[in-house]
Amino acid sequence: MAKTLELLAFDQDHLWHPYSAIPPSYPVWPVAEAYGTRLRLVDGRELIDGMASWWCVIHGYRHPTLDAAIQNQLARTAHVMFGGLTHKPAVELGKRLLTIVPAELEKIFFCDSGSVAVEVALKIALQYWQALGFSQKRRFLALRGGYHGDTFGAMSVGDPVTGMHHLFAEFLPKQLFAPRPSCRFHESWDPRSVEPLAELVERHHAEIAALVLEPIVQGAGGMWFYHPEHLRAARRLCDEFAILLIADEIATGFGRTGKLFACGHAGISPDILCLGKALTGGYLTLAAVLTTQEGAETVCSGEAGCLMHGPTFMANPLACATASASIDLLLASSWQENVYRIETALAAGLAPCRNLPGVADVRVLGAIGAVELKAPVDLAVITPKFVERGVWLRPFGKLIYTMPAYVISDEELATLCKAIYEAVSAV
Ligand SMILES: *Cc1c(COP(=O)(O)O)cnc(C)c1O
Repeated sequence: MAKTLELLAFDQDHLWHPYSAIPPSYPVWPVAEAYGTRLRLVDGRELIDGMASWWCVIHGYRHPTLDAAIQNQLARTAHVMFGGLTHKPAVELGKRLLTIVPAELEKIFFCDSGSVAVEVALKIALQYWQALGFSQKRRFLALRGGYHGDTFGAMSVGDPVTGMHHLFAEFLPKQLFAPRPSCRFHESWDPRSVEPLAELVERHHAEIAALVLEPIVQGAGGMWFYHPEHLRAARRLCDEFAILLIADEIATGFGRTGKLFACGHAGISPDILCLGKALTGGYLTLAAVLTTQEGAETVCSGEAGCLMHGPTFMANPLACATASASIDLLLASSWQENVYRIETALAAGLAPCRNLPGVADVRVLGAIGAVELKAPVDLAVITPKFVERGVWLRPFGKLIYTMPAYVISDEELATLCKAIYEAVSAV
């Protein structure tokens, strides 16, 4: 007990948490360990984890196969530089990625986090047009309601309001924004949804290097699920007006939406694909940026003669080995039926929330369930209610949402949904 208090006191005094003050304005719980779908707090309480540590931990915590993969690699080497050296974990992971992404994507850049992957994607697009002599194509078109990370380039293409652009106004490049796609995933397609995007493309294509979007599911920008035809139309516009399409699948990749990649809902391939989050099954930080033969050739034909990026921990062997094991595990499972099972359970379990007075909307797609309230959630009030009910959920803005590990049971899903219903009823 004294140890826990000391731990919490140091944390409060010295450690920054995501988007927080020091000390944070919300409670922070100390975790002793995690296994499967459970977090065990130092006081012995066990919570069903509804967050999969922000989309990442798709196979659950401490999976024996992933533990073994990381230990085997650790016995060889934890890390070597990727400049001038290569290794089996990077090659093995590269081979696996090429078997699961659209066939056009052949060249892979490994980096250390999702935000950096987005920076690299933007850089590829800029270097591509420079190499072709179109250096006026140096702005990006993005969607309102999007989220692409917290570094400056990534922030510049995130939603200008929720992304707090005004805080960094002098420093951020000014990008172009189309409205959030209005036609939802399950609605019948309304072509008017894409008209504002088409207008922006027609007016500004000469200065646009790439359209950056999260395919089908806008995650941290608002848990919004839009129609596959919107994505198809975006692909067509990019082709017609010589704009590269960057698909940020950092949150949606590896089965989360019911397809291995969300682009699969529309049957399209981007010119540049960003992967991260669940890539290592949530064990280590790793991201990848993939592009086409033509894209890579063009970038390398430019003034620099290369892609101008090279992080210290590029293609970290521990992370690559774990990622290969995670992909093998996913592909060997009946992941699609399983995600559908979770979708069905979330749809049934969250449906009663629609009748609560404070609820504006309930939406479910794949292994993602979201309840949108009419007013913002107070984390300091609602999180303790969830912990009392034995679940771990971390709402943001007006959204209470879950995207659990794929190994979650139907009973655990029912407990999560019931906890959401009760907490929403109480606030
Ligand atoms: C989380 C996320 C990022 C940023 O990834 P980090 O690893 O946190 O830098 C970028 N894009 C999307 C869609 C994300 O969900």
